[in-house]
Amino acid sequence: MENKKLYLLISLFIGFMGLSSWGFLAHKTLQQVAIHQLPTELGLYFFANQDYLVQNSIRPDVRRKDDKTEDVKHYLDMDAHVFGPNYKTDIPHDFAQAVKKYTIDSLRKEGLVPWEVNRVYGRLVHAFKSNMPDSVLFYAADLGHYVADAHVPLHTTKNHDGQLTDQKGLHVLWESLVPEQFLVGYQLQQNQPLTYIKQPQDFIFQILAESHAMLPEVFAAEKELRSRMGDDKVYMMVERYGRKQRYFTKEFIQAYGDRVGKSVEQRMLTSAHRVASFWYSAWKDAGSPAWVGTSPVLTQEKKQQYADQHASWQANTLIKQNLLISLQSKSAE
Ligand SMILES: [Zn+2]
Repeated sequence: MENKKLYLLISLFIGFMGLSSWGFLAHKTLQQVAIHQLPTELGLYFFANQDYLVQNSIRPDVRRKDDKTEDVKHYLDMDAHVFGPNYKTDIPHDFAQAVKKYTIDSLRKEGLVPWEVNRVYGRLVHAFKSNMPDSVLFYAADLGHYVADAHVPLHTTKNHDGQLTDQKGLHVLWESLVPEQFLVGYQLQQNQPLTYIKQPQDFIFQILAESHAMLPEVFAAEKELRSRMGDDKVYMMVERYGRKQRYFTKEFIQAYGDRVGKSVEQRMLTSAHRVASFWYSAWKDAGSPAWVGTSPVLTQEKKQQYADQHASWQANTLIKQNLLISLQSKSAE
């Protein structure tokens, strides 16, 4: 009884781990998987720089610590009051028009992700055109992150952590804890052909709309499972850094994952496919520059490694063969 009181008291004050976006594991995984969906010419170049692209897939989140302007680039709270009741269709895709309609201060408050994607996309096209390999990798890594974030349902609502509906912790549950617990069973190989994105600015809004449409189930699953299992089975208190913190139990993560996990996996793989599509389209828009195929980083050894790992991806054995970088770094930590 005493314990229970303590638990209730503490849980009032202590939330969950800080919000990020797709968890680090998911970002790194999907960025590596995206590389294998590129046509060979570009895929080989990105593969030769795979460590950079994978490790830096989380850089925009890391930047948030020091750069106060960064946070808002990772989401768009579409249902925020300022966008009105018809927000699903009314938000102008064009940045200047959106600023005119809502003011820049409102957008800086409610989110900038679709416009940040478009801005970074433009930088990437320019870097490809100008034969600037360092910039290509820099912007490709960042673009992959923002595109992936737009696929996360909770990045499209003001109730981004379930905090408005007594479901706090939902953010980290959906985008980190579930993928972490289920990743080893994911089918990372996909046969979907790459698409050339004609209008990146419109396409990212389509992605946000898809994400937003997933929200009712994201919330309902937590609510129903929690009422069925009871809070004692859902939460546990863990002492970290001298403080008691509230975490979800493994049992609850499993139950939530059993219910919505397929859609989390699908969304992560769709993110990878779209990241590849954005990279590919930027390269195309730059006139398919040939320098990516003649770069000195493309040694015979790299080409062989690419062929081997590509075959492993196709056979869905990246995890089994310990080739998934996100899991390697995890075990090394
Ligand atoms: Zn993010």
